[in-house]
Amino acid sequence: MIILLKPEIDQPGEILRSIISMAQRYDGVWAKPYSYSGRDCGITEVHLIGSTRTVPTQPFAALPGVLRVLRVSAKYRLIGRHGGAEPLGFEYNGVSFGRETLNVFAGLCAVDTREHVARTMAALAENGVVTTRMGAYKPRTSPYDFQGLGAECLPYVFELAGKHGIRVIAIEATHARQIDELRSALENAGNPTGVMLQVGTRNAQNFELLKAIGQQRDFPVLFKRGMGITLEESLNACEYVASEGNPRIVFCFRGVRTHLGDPHRNLLDFGLVPVVLRQTRLAVCIDPSHSVGRMDLAPDGLPDIFHAVGQGLIAGASMVLVDFHPEPKVALCDGPQALTLDQLPRLVRYAATARAAYESLVAAHDGAGTDTRLQKESHMEQADAAGRSRLPFGGARSSVSTTGSRAAAP
Ligand code: PEP
Ligand code: MN
Repeated sequence: MIILLKPEIDQPGEILRSIISMAQRYDGVWAKPYSYSGRDCGITEVHLIGSTRTVPTQPFAALPGVLRVLRVSAKYRLIGRHGGAEPLGFEYNGVSFGRETLNVFAGLCAVDTREHVARTMAALAENGVVTTRMGAYKPRTSPYDFQGLGAECLPYVFELAGKHGIRVIAIEATHARQIDELRSALENAGNPTGVMLQVGTRNAQNFELLKAIGQQRDFPVLFKRGMGITLEESLNACEYVASEGNPRIVFCFRGVRTHLGDPHRNLLDFGLVPVVLRQTRLAVCIDPSHSVGRMDLAPDGLPDIFHAVGQGLIAGASMVLVDFHPEPKVALCDGPQALTLDQLPRLVRYAATARAAYESLVAAHDGAGTDTRLQKESHMEQADAAGRSRLPFGGARSSVSTTGSRAAAP
């Protein structure tokens, strides 16, 4: 059972004590408070755990300061939507993450040289993008393939991020000790940027890693769906992270392993975006690069990767993770799927236009959706030919500024 407190309560101490003491009246039931920093205000809720089936909701609902009481299934206790819990947005290092923002994480699949990092980050800054991906620890199929530069590259990656105003970098951790390496490298660099910890598809059920990532609160988490497991299994993996104490998770689709998607690398599973939005409180990211896996252009001149971006965003995803490289031919990892830096402005424009189309479609639809904020903030305006838009997601707190060519200071 989840007891949601009214958002306007600043000092929830007294109401928390009342809830905890009321919960103590029931044998085998205990109360665990959770606080999240929402986009506009803090969210506090109390979870009643144990044998709650016979516990009545009414006495808790009647306490002053309680907004609502929800009965929840054991499944997805923390990340689940339960037909009424608010989606969990969060702010990290000046960037908002949630269902109403648009965040484009464009960058290197794997860091190879300082020069490539510098060129990529300069291009991002030029295009108003303040979020990137920079793989340092690479899980590779063959032990003889490039495994990433590891901690060695972190000092210059963070220094250059500070120089170019990059606020958040997605970096995969393949082992719990890398979390400490990332934290100390950031501290040594003077915390010029932030890190979003990526859980790779191959580690989607590495429960010890998931627990370690959940136990730290410094970094938010980008969880990539396991390529060969069910959606339910992947969502349970996110629940592991949340249950250890870190609910700042974005769920990422990256295609699933089957040859039925050939000639693409994986089969696009972006049709499931609305399912995650309905079943959970998480925002959804899509990774078109690892799904498509190649740079081919469709006859309309757009790369298949762009079309995949459109399919994810039109389904309600609000974040994109996409591979770029200044010289794909010399990339040490996933060169064939990397977009080139001259394609960056087009990708940013494409993503802004697709998101604007989604918002317009939601606003035009007469069904009564449950995400009222999205409906309220949406309006019919389309991005203009230059991709500029005054839509709410283009604000300074999103990682893509669609209102100007330069990164807005968050
Ligand atoms: C990646 O994003 O670099 C990556 C390895 O992706 P995935 O875990 O989805 O294969
Ligand atoms: Mn890759």
